[in-house]
Amino acid sequence: MLWSRFYIPTLKEAPADAEVISHRLMARAGMIRKLTSGVYVYMPYGLMAINKVAAVAREEMNRAGAIELAMPMVQPADLWRESGRWALYGKELLRFKDRHERDFCLGPTHEEVISSLLRGELRSYRQLPLNLYQIQTKFRDEIRPRFGLMRGREFIMKDAYSFDRDEAGAEASYEAMRAAYARIFTRLGLRFRAVEADSGAIGGKFSHEYMVLARTGEDAIVSCAACGYAANLERAASVPPAGGKEEASPPPLEDIATPNVKSIEELSSFLRLPPESFIKTILLRVDGRLVAALVRGDRMLNEIKLRNYFNAAQVELLPPEKTLELCGAPAGFIGPVGLKADYMLADYELAGRRGWIAGAGRLDAHLRNLDLSRDAKVDAYADLRLLTGGDPCPHCGAALELARGIEVGHVFKLGRKYSEPMKLNFLDENGVEQPMLMGCYGVGISRVVAACIEQNHDEAGIIFPPAIAPFAVEILNLDPSSKEAVDKAVEIHNLIAADGLDVLLDDREERPGVKFKDADLLGAPMQIIVGARGLARGVLEVKNRRSGLRAELPVVSFTTDFAAWQDTVRAEWKI
Ligand code: ATP
Ligand code: MG
Repeated sequence: MLWSRFYIPTLKEAPADAEVISHRLMARAGMIRKLTSGVYVYMPYGLMAINKVAAVAREEMNRAGAIELAMPMVQPADLWRESGRWALYGKELLRFKDRHERDFCLGPTHEEVISSLLRGELRSYRQLPLNLYQIQTKFRDEIRPRFGLMRGREFIMKDAYSFDRDEAGAEASYEAMRAAYARIFTRLGLRFRAVEADSGAIGGKFSHEYMVLARTGEDAIVSCAACGYAANLERAASVPPAGGKEEASPPPLEDIATPNVKSIEELSSFLRLPPESFIKTILLRVDGRLVAALVRGDRMLNEIKLRNYFNAAQVELLPPEKTLELCGAPAGFIGPVGLKADYMLADYELAGRRGWIAGAGRLDAHLRNLDLSRDAKVDAYADLRLLTGGDPCPHCGAALELARGIEVGHVFKLGRKYSEPMKLNFLDENGVEQPMLMGCYGVGISRVVAACIEQNHDEAGIIFPPAIAPFAVEILNLDPSSKEAVDKAVEIHNLIAADGLDVLLDDREERPGVKFKDADLLGAPMQIIVGARGLARGVLEVKNRRSGLRAELPVVSFTTDFAAWQDTVRAEWKI
C-alpha cells in the first residue's frame, strides 16, 4: 500500500476529550473519528487493526468447532419480555418504536435472539451440542461512554452461544471456549490473565474474564504466582477465619471524646493507633432494608460480596442526611453498639478479636474496649472485604499480587437461565422434553485494539504486536525525489507484499522528520528506511519499533537478511 494512495489522516494533537493514551493515539494515528458520544467511525487504518483481531477470533472459533452466523442488530421487545430482561436491563438497552408503535431495542447481546431462533429449529438431542457465533456491532447506551473504543456505546463484539444436553456437555463446551480464548489472546501477542469473575447481569453462576494487563486498566485483579489462581478483585475471596483461640474479653466499654474526628485517618492520628484497631461501620440500603456492614478500619467493603450475600437486586450507600436521620449521628460516628439496623453483617476478620474502637453512635464520640459478641448484635459474619496485594491466596496461602487489567473477553455458563423462560427445549433419548444448557462467550473485538495500545506504546506512539498491526512493515522512503530510492522502495514493497505481508510505503513528499514521527506514531512493528545516502553505501536500514534497535542490512542480500531479522522481531513478541 502506498501512503499517497491510502487515507491515514494523522493529527499532531489529540482531541481535547481523549483522556487515555489509546484514545489519544488512535485519534492521532487516524484510526478513529468520533461521530457522537461513544460512537466512532473506524477509519481505514483502524479498521485494518480491528479486522486483524476479528480474523484471529474467527479462526480460533472455527478451530474450536463453533459455527459463524449473523444475527440482526434490531431486536423485538417481545423476546426480551419473555426472558424477563425488558424490565431488568435498565437504560443501557436502547429502546425505540417502529411505525406501528411496536417496541424494539438495539442488541447489547444476543441470548434472546439466538434462543428464539433455535427453539424453532432444534428438536432432538442428536442435534446437540451446537455452538454458534457472530462478529457484529453491539449497542449499549453506557452511562459514561469514554476512552474511545475502550467503552463505546456502539462497539464490535464476537459473541458465541453454546447449547448442550447435559452438564458434562456444557462443561466441555465451556472448556473448549476457554482454550480458544487463551489461544486468541496469546496469538494476538497480548499479556493477559484469565480471572475468575462475577457473573453480573448476564447471569449464570460461574465465569472467567480475560484481562489485558495494563496499568491504566479499569479493573483490579489479584493473582497468585505460586499456584496460578487469578480473580477479579471484586470476586477474590478472603481466607476464612482459622477459628483458633479467642481473645479474652476486654474491660467494659468506655467513651472517648473525639471532637470533629470523622475519618479513620483522622482517628488514627488523633489516638495514635493504627487503622486496624478500628471498626468501620457502613450503612446501606439493600432491597429496602437498612443494613450495617462492619469491616476493619484499614479495609474496604466489597459491595459485590455484600450484594451476593443477600442475593440482592439493589444495593446503595445510605446518603449522609439519612444516616443522621435514622441513626442519630453523622456517618463518621456511627458504630455497631445500639445501632438500629435491620441486619448487621460483619467481615470474617472481626470474628474472635476483641477490644475494638468504633463510633459511639453520637456526635463527637467513639467507644473503646468493644467486644462485638458482648456489646453488639451482629447477625452474621461473612467475607465482605476487598482484598489487597499481599493478602493470602484463597487456594494456597501465598501472597497475592495486585494488578490492573482491561476486560477483553468473558465466558459464562448460563445453564437454563434463558432456555427455561424462553422454552428452548429438546427431546432426550427417552423422548422427554428438557431445557438446553447454554453458555455464552464474548470478545470485545474493538476494545481489544484499544487495550493492545494501552499495553503497547511509548512517548512516540503505538507499538503494535505483529498479529494486530495493520501493516507488519512500514517502508520510509526518505528521498522521494531520487529515482534510485523510489525504485528500491517500490521493489522491496512488492517483494514483501508478495510474501503475503501487509506493507505500507511512505512515498509522500514530506521531510524525513515527518516520516520518522509518523512511522513511530502508526506503530508498525518493523520499519525499513530507504535513503539515497544508504543506497550509495549499498545498505538499507531496518528498525525494530518495540526495542528501538536499528541495523543496516546490505542491499545485495537484503531478502534473506530481512527474513532472518523479521524472525527475531517476531520471536520477541511470543508470550
Ligand atoms: P464491562 O464490565 O467492561 O462493562 P461487560 O461485563 O458489560 O463489560 P460483557 O457483557 O461480558 O461485558 O461483554 C463481552 C465483552 O464485550 C467484554 O468482555 C468487553 O470486552 C466488551 N465490551 C463490553 N462493553 C463494551 C463497551 N461499552 N465498549 C467496548 N467493548 C465492550
Ligand atoms: Mg463482563
